[in-house]
Amino acid sequence: MTSKDLPKIIEEPPGKKAKELFELDKNYISPSYARYYPLFVERVKNTTVIDVDGNEYIDFNSGLLCLNIGHHPEVIEAIKRQAEKLIHYSITDFYYKEVIELSEELLKIIPIKGNIKFHYCNSGTEANEAAIKLARYYTGRQNIIAYIGSFHGRTYGSLTLTASKPVHRKRFSPLLPGVYHVPYPYCYRCPFKQEYPSCDFACLDYIKEWVLEKYVPAEEIAAFIFEPVLGEGGFVWPPEDYFKKLKKITDQYDILLIDDEVQAGIGRTGKWFAIEHFGIEPDIITIAKAIASGLPLGVTASKANIMNWEKGAHATTFGGNPIACKAAIATIQVIKKEKLLERVERLGLEIKKYLQEMQEKYEIIGDVRGKGFMIGIELVKDRKTKIPAREETNEILTKCWKKGLLLISGGLSTIRIAPPLNLEESLIRKGLQILEEEIKKLVSNK
Ligand code: PLP
Repeated sequence: MTSKDLPKIIEEPPGKKAKELFELDKNYISPSYARYYPLFVERVKNTTVIDVDGNEYIDFNSGLLCLNIGHHPEVIEAIKRQAEKLIHYSITDFYYKEVIELSEELLKIIPIKGNIKFHYCNSGTEANEAAIKLARYYTGRQNIIAYIGSFHGRTYGSLTLTASKPVHRKRFSPLLPGVYHVPYPYCYRCPFKQEYPSCDFACLDYIKEWVLEKYVPAEEIAAFIFEPVLGEGGFVWPPEDYFKKLKKITDQYDILLIDDEVQAGIGRTGKWFAIEHFGIEPDIITIAKAIASGLPLGVTASKANIMNWEKGAHATTFGGNPIACKAAIATIQVIKKEKLLERVERLGLEIKKYLQEMQEKYEIIGDVRGKGFMIGIELVKDRKTKIPAREETNEILTKCWKKGLLLISGGLSTIRIAPPLNLEESLIRKGLQILEEEIKKLVSNK
């Protein structure tokens, strides 16, 4: 079996075994999980996903953007070696060297100058909880600003920051006090009905003139948290100058910038961290998902003078698990060794070009945006009204799955193109062709 035989569909999914498991899953598993289609994964081999019925898929979502290098043999080896030695001995109360080793690796890639300290946890939401606690602790201020459109997690603090879909919040209030939201620079759907660049950043004027000068005292704001690119919100990229201009405002009031790189970090956009595309340095960075190639690990990194809280102020039992740390070190080393950042930058341009050419052919594609392997295509009912083509998006995801291509969506109707950084070029091309065929069929059947 070589990759040129991929994808391999031997029984149209869901196959017999998947159907049986689907019934059992309904009995036992919380219905709150929003799965796209009943893909039952048996195994991941390098970057190939294999289901319980033996179907083999091209993965364009990298296991929810956690498997940026798939199941890489060097990461697997690092996990095995560490598992033989030390599985757990909490850094909450004791010491082990793997967290130091990982911190030294991270230090080389984190886009913050000077001394940095790291707090380790297990997930993205926890990394953001730590970030907002740290910002409040350090500044002695209580308010946090976040974006409408963003996703930061589902535990209470992070959930309060999250504002991408009402279902995430419905019936869970009251949430955390002191969090205010402002619109994300989503130019394709500008809430101010303007166009970039003639808008002259009206959205930033709104923050200054309508939020800070009207009702949220700027000197009581601890931090501004942002995703440099909306992940769950549909791979929305702000204009290049946006964060520089935002930082001018936040610097004026000593407001900390928290950069949530949980989804966009670890090479996904062709740089280690997406904020590097925007030329600013945040005060705090949060990382999770791909950092340990699928093992649970979250990191909150900040300037050392900020992470200066007292003993006992914050910790978690499992955070910075030594196996996850070794997996993270191996992940970073593989990305370096295989020069994946350069690869992603180069191939990302090709992917985007292909999708832009598709946009010229199919009216349903309203917008193509992104960099590296974080590219979104937003489907609309028609280009003038921009009504999101939600049903069509879901139909495309399901049809592509049946043809052997794994995709997910974001926002209301954006298909997210996020293959592993090391996915073979021929498979990237094949995946794009499958996507195009299904879009073509869909529009010609309408
Ligand atoms: N922040 C961002 C940008 C995310 O995309 C996510 C998850 O999708 C989170 C935070 C939450 O991460 P986790 O699901 O690991 O808690």
